[in-house]
Amino acid sequence: MSVKIIDYRCPQNHRCPSVMVCPVNALSQVGDSAPVVDNDKCVDCGKCIWYCPTGAIAMDRG
Ligand code: SF4
Repeated sequence: MSVKIIDYRCPQNHRCPSVMVCPVNALSQVGDSAPVVDNDKCVDCGKCIWYCPTGAIAMDRG
């Protein structure tokens, strides 16, 4: 399991707060674009989900 970015929920107009709280640097962002998750680094802590103000990050149960 990992997290997925729901692009259409991300306004893509700000620095992503979730990128800053990820304890293993699994999230990255170029400019103000939607963040990208590195599934090999993610440890499924769920922290980024709680810090995203628009609900654009969710657990990927697929
Ligand atoms: S679930 Fe945790 S480890 Fe994975 S991307 Fe989010 S903050 Fe980082």
